[in-house]
Amino acid sequence: MIGFKSVRRVALAALLMGSVSVQALAADAPAPVTVLKAARMFDAAAGKIVSPGVVVVQGDKILASGPTAKLPDGAKVIDLGDATLTPGFIDSHVHMSGQDNGDWYKGFFDNLMQHPPELALRATAYTKAMVEAGFTTVRDLGDSDYISLGLRNAIKSGAVEGPRMLVANYAIGSTGGHADQDPIRPDILAQATPIKGVCNGPEECRAAVRYQMKYGADVIKFMPSGGVLSLADPVDVPQLTQEEMNAIVSEAHAWKRKVAAHCHGDLAAKMAIKAGVDSIEHGTFLQEDTLKLMKEKGVYLVPTLFATYWVGGHADEYPPAIAAKARAAAAQSQKMFSWAVKAGTKVAFGTDAAVEPHGQGAKEFSLMTSAGFTPVQALQAATVNAADLLGVSADSGTLDSGKRADIVALPGDPTKDITVTEHPKLVMANGKIVRE
Ligand SMILES: [Zn+2]
Repeated sequence: MIGFKSVRRVALAALLMGSVSVQALAADAPAPVTVLKAARMFDAAAGKIVSPGVVVVQGDKILASGPTAKLPDGAKVIDLGDATLTPGFIDSHVHMSGQDNGDWYKGFFDNLMQHPPELALRATAYTKAMVEAGFTTVRDLGDSDYISLGLRNAIKSGAVEGPRMLVANYAIGSTGGHADQDPIRPDILAQATPIKGVCNGPEECRAAVRYQMKYGADVIKFMPSGGVLSLADPVDVPQLTQEEMNAIVSEAHAWKRKVAAHCHGDLAAKMAIKAGVDSIEHGTFLQEDTLKLMKEKGVYLVPTLFATYWVGGHADEYPPAIAAKARAAAAQSQKMFSWAVKAGTKVAFGTDAAVEPHGQGAKEFSLMTSAGFTPVQALQAATVNAADLLGVSADSGTLDSGKRADIVALPGDPTKDITVTEHPKLVMANGKIVRE
């Protein structure tokens, strides 16, 4: 058997040789230049459509953009005609490691029986569907067995097709809460501990955060309130103490990680805001004073309207305890969103994809506009705002030069018909055309 040290030496040598040849290649041949042309483009920072749309791309970066951008000699020009170029969409709330299959009981059984490698292989179809739908960056807010972490790394290395991913690893919450396993008999399923995100008391909760960061979490997700799709807990009551929430948020912020709080309930959201959280996810039962407080403190709302709309429409498929929560959430989410619009709360686009099938997330745009957003506000939520929340504004969220070449071409004009977001004409992700 070959020793560990020699394996490491061989791997290191291969790595060095690989990097030398890639660098030599890059020095010899500059990446080809591609120009995307269309009737219009969306200036996400200014919140307006400009005409015509021109984006010059070299390799994985935007070289220049705007109506007066020069077309370099020898560039390949793709003329998309009556279309609008927008920055690649950002979904701030997804779960790439799984997907509802329309049969809750079968899904529950499959989750128990399928091993992580099978789940990961199946998930490569979800990441492909996601990026082909125009979502070039996603934030994965919780999974099991580090499947999303593996997807993130495999996509980054080019081995798997998908969007750039930021991942949370295990979501953090209390015993019996929304981050815990369903109440399967304890003699059959071992109790989850802080390494799997389940914690009781501030010190365990600090440890839970540290474990997620140790294994590569880009963001921390925690569960101040109950959830819709869990069997044991009420949806709206707080599931962590103020001290536990303070510990989670301060520990993540110490490592400069953002913190996303899953909150349906109003009191739990108030406690999470007090702890200094960066975003409230879902926010279904938030009251108007809480949404105003978020506006004051600059806390983002990620409303996931599509998820509540979906579970409301499919409530009959769930066990009775979940069905009742799904109906209550669906009845409230659009009303809550209209209050957020009135209060001027910052909104970042997020769908909770996995609850509904991956690749259909653009439906969130029209749910936003039907509850009070203009099409421009909805597009900004999925571009500049989401980039700000995720901390990726330096390379995403607009079509400015120097940013990642993440570009979507929509047929027609999305400010006249927002549903065109559901049928992109072309998607470029990190400089590569993945749909046309
Ligand atoms: Zn979620």
